[in-house]
Amino acid sequence: MREALLYQKLEHNKVRCNLCAHRCVINPGKKGICKVRENIGGILYTKVYGRTITQNIDPIEKKPLYHFYPGSKAYSMATAGCNFQCRFCQNWHISQIINDEVFKLGQNITPEKIVLNTKKAECQIIAYTYTEPTIFFEYSYDIARIARKAGLKNIYVTNGYMTDEMLAMLSPYLDAVNIDLKAFRDKTYRQITGGHLQPVLDNLKKIKQLGIWLEVTSLIIPGINDDPHEIRDIANFVVKELGSDVPWHISRFFPAYKMKEVPATPLQTLQVAKEIGHEEGIHYVYLGNVINNENMDTKCPKCSRVLIERTNFGIIRNNIKDDCCPNCGKEIAGVGLSLI
Ligand code: SF4
Repeated sequence: MREALLYQKLEHNKVRCNLCAHRCVINPGKKGICKVRENIGGILYTKVYGRTITQNIDPIEKKPLYHFYPGSKAYSMATAGCNFQCRFCQNWHISQIINDEVFKLGQNITPEKIVLNTKKAECQIIAYTYTEPTIFFEYSYDIARIARKAGLKNIYVTNGYMTDEMLAMLSPYLDAVNIDLKAFRDKTYRQITGGHLQPVLDNLKKIKQLGIWLEVTSLIIPGINDDPHEIRDIANFVVKELGSDVPWHISRFFPAYKMKEVPATPLQTLQVAKEIGHEEGIHYVYLGNVINNENMDTKCPKCSRVLIERTNFGIIRNNIKDDCCPNCGKEIAGVGLSLI
């Protein structure tokens, strides 16, 4: 365990954690909502620093980031824990701390070793992903600073529930972020995640304003957030507040964890959502969790020429030349589009 960053000491040995928007006030001997930060005698500790629960080499497309060094490999890692309790979580066995046994999984590994492993694996990017990286901020912050010095990129795949303080510390080392925008109704957020909508919307705008490459993902769940009005509200927010060039990934739900009784999202619902995205003016709308589908391809928003052909998280062909469409010359939004 290591003393946490970003907390305040309060009276009677209580502490307030200022890492995420829950801002938990934690009594001595208790943990925060994420269950990985514990108050011991008036000092807040992170229980996951240096303890990697999983690490893999993934295509960047799996994060998903489609406009950030397409075709590159990301060294992807996580610790246990999450500040949300999503009832549909696909990774619940490592994100939800059912009991302290979870902390025994994985292995101790220093930030330096993570960076070394990334280089050995010939990855150019480290992805903090699978669980919520905000809750292992101290660990990811140390890794990200070493990685930056070593010429690597850092990406966060996150629920976007961090505080301004956390973002201020981490953002100088962040190169790209994918944020889950899980719904556009606060009531839905409270019911399915335990969090609120507004902090996520605020962070989407802040990350865009900071100039960090941003993509947005929305998992469409039957009966929860599949109302076309709500889908249109999400698309409208993306265009108006983030801009037409921010890619929007519409992801297919499959039954999982505490929502096994809910059926998979019908393909028709996803197609309607995609049409809504285009109608609202988003230039790059993709469908995720849909195998072998042309809906993963990047098309020129001006002449519709296929620019990047994808399959199952891989690149078949990248036709982009000097960040532009080779047919009509339109500049295509993204980072490192023609480098790999
Ligand atoms: S990270 Fe968030 S959920 Fe965890 S203790 Fe801090 S404020 Fe609470």
